[in-house]
Amino acid sequence: MLLTITTTHTPATDLGYLLHKNPARVQSFNLSFGQAHVFYPEASDLRCTAALLLDVDPVALVRGPRGEGRTLAQYVNDRPYIASSFLSVAIAQVFGSALKGRCVDRPDLVDRPIPLEATVSVLPCRDGEPFIRRLFEPLGYSVAAERVPLDTVFPDWGDSQYFEVRLAGTVRLSELLGHLYVLAAALDPQKDHYIGDDEVNKLVRRGEGWLSSHPDRDIIVRRYLNYRGPQVRDALAQLTQDEPIDMEESSAQGDQLEDETFERRGRLHDMRLGAVLDVMKQAGARRVLDLGCGGGKLLALLLKDGQFAEILGMDVSYRALERAQFSLKLDRLPPMKRSRINLIQGSLIYRDKRLEGYDAAAVVEVIEHLDPGRLAAFERVLFEFARPGTVVITTPNREFNSLFETLPEGSLRHRDHRFEWTRAEFEEWAQAACVRFGYAVELLPVGPEHPDLGAPSQMAVFTKR
Ligand code: SAH
Repeated sequence: MLLTITTTHTPATDLGYLLHKNPARVQSFNLSFGQAHVFYPEASDLRCTAALLLDVDPVALVRGPRGEGRTLAQYVNDRPYIASSFLSVAIAQVFGSALKGRCVDRPDLVDRPIPLEATVSVLPCRDGEPFIRRLFEPLGYSVAAERVPLDTVFPDWGDSQYFEVRLAGTVRLSELLGHLYVLAAALDPQKDHYIGDDEVNKLVRRGEGWLSSHPDRDIIVRRYLNYRGPQVRDALAQLTQDEPIDMEESSAQGDQLEDETFERRGRLHDMRLGAVLDVMKQAGARRVLDLGCGGGKLLALLLKDGQFAEILGMDVSYRALERAQFSLKLDRLPPMKRSRINLIQGSLIYRDKRLEGYDAAAVVEVIEHLDPGRLAAFERVLFEFARPGTVVITTPNREFNSLFETLPEGSLRHRDHRFEWTRAEFEEWAQAACVRFGYAVELLPVGPEHPDLGAPSQMAVFTKR
């Protein structure tokens, strides 16, 4: 069984840092079912490929503790050749740090989506190519799956249930490994791992940020857990705990993917938050809202500044609020500071009395997660009912996307973005809202400006007339 991972990110040999495996050496690892070897068939600055070769030992398997009473079929089978739950085990053991998204030498690399291509030499799938596509395409990969003939000498024996699968996409390496970890095990018709409570935890952990919003989530969970009812129920309960109450409000799933978008981490986001904070300070706001607060980065800045006497963070996602609570260390704040901030769960498309009477509201990188059909409701909730004196809204500037090296042409910056506006589109929307609700607006660039395409992000500052 061979898995190769190729990148054309430059320098491509960064892959060695990300995988914690030196491109210059062949390394071998003893695993319970055989050996794993890691080597690099190619390693140049422009293109680098890492290969994980699994040498599954069927005899050792049969002789192992679970081998009693086995027959010839246990010795002569496809286990050595196919991607199975053994691949998942090997990924976790050989590429454990990369799977967890850790990289001591180059921490800056880990969070960056880079162009990656993975080839799995033999992936079993009884349901054929369409099912392979259904599993991987929603995760942002372009998928090529070629059926392996049953026998090359006797082609009339027909097709096998095996596919050579190639996935290409711009993702973080840890995401790719997590996807392969879960989906190889889910496709394995004969799972060898023991399915205990720990397996449920592993699934939830490895599925974080994508499994809960995968259209085939339930099938994946059932197959991964070998249709064991209690475990399946437990996993699904954990994965769906912060699903929107209103099922139509699919926009809420934004958070289930990580809070970080394509470029929400790092300098640009810091600049954006700095710009928003400045506006709220200049406006002299004391009571402030952070709507769609996510993991609470803006809240942390607001809390640091004594001007903001009352801070309310709202998000539709319970999990995002938990993250915010954790990162703000709310339960360990001194009482005075603690009394300045509150977190509530709520949705921006329903009128909410708790949002009334504030001086300023920030809505940072949220609007593009709303379904266009819900924008009118959002406008009324914000400008008509909550009606703060100042409103700051930020959103990506789509025109700038072509300048992101690693963003495939025509794609948006995050899987959950429902749209991304050009500067003209954002302005048109903002001006219309002003007319309807009695505000004035100023539009500003955020981040370094390109002469034709503008800045990566844009900000609208509304002031009540
Ligand atoms: N403002 C944060 C998070 C942006 S991510 C930051 O800049 O870091 C978008 C956030 O909007 C997610 O946390 C998501 O849960 C939230 N969100 C999406 N739809 C929402 C809705 N209808 N009401 C409230 N929050 C929503």
